Amino acid sequence: MSLELEELYQEVILDHSRRPRNFGDLADAAVRVHGDNPACGDEIHLGVKFGPDGELQEIKFTGHGCAISQASASLMTMKLKGKSRAEAEGMLRAFHDLVTDETAEAPRTLGDLRMMQGVRKFPQRVKCAMLAWRAVEQALLQSAGEATISTETDFAAPRHRGLPDSAAPAAPTPLR
Ligand code: ZN
Repeated sequence: MSLELEELYQEVILDHSRRPRNFGDLADAAVRVHGDNPACGDEIHLGVKFGPDGELQEIKFTGHGCAISQASASLMTMKLKGKSRAEAEGMLRAFHDLVTDETAEAPRTLGDLRMMQGVRKFPQRVKCAMLAWRAVEQALLQSAGEATISTETDFAAPRHRGLPDSAAPAAPTPLR
C-alpha cells in the first residue's frame, strides 16, 4: 500500500472514531448486544431493529475505546443498515477474512472497510476491529433480547470452515 493511501485511510479511521455515524441508543431495538474487548479496553453496545423481511432496518451503537474499534463500528453500521440477513452475514465473513487471512482479497462490497486490512499484522488490533462485528454476529444469531460477548472467546467462523488451528501440532510428514 502506498504511503499516500495509508495516510488517507488513517484520516478516515480518525474521522469515524471522532464523529461516529449511527451513534446513540436505539430505543426500540429488538436485540441489544454488549461487546467487550478486555485486551484493549474497548466497549460496544449495539442495538438492532429488524424490518418486516428480517432486514437490518436500524442499527446503532454506543461505546468507547480505541480509534480502530470505534471506527470499525461506525463503518459497520453504515454498511449493514438496510441489508438483508444474508447480505450482513456475507459481509461479516468477508470482513473477518479481510482482517485475519493473509491471502484474502478485499471484496469491493466492503467499501471503506477495506482499509482495516492493515490490522491483520497485529493480532491485538484484530480484536479491536472485530469487536463490533462479533456483536452483530450475536445479534443475528439470537434476533431478540440481550446478550454480552467478549473478544476473548473464539470467533466461530474459522472453525466452521475447517481452517487449521495454529495451536495444533503439525501433522508429521510421511517418509519416503
Ligand atoms: Zn482497541
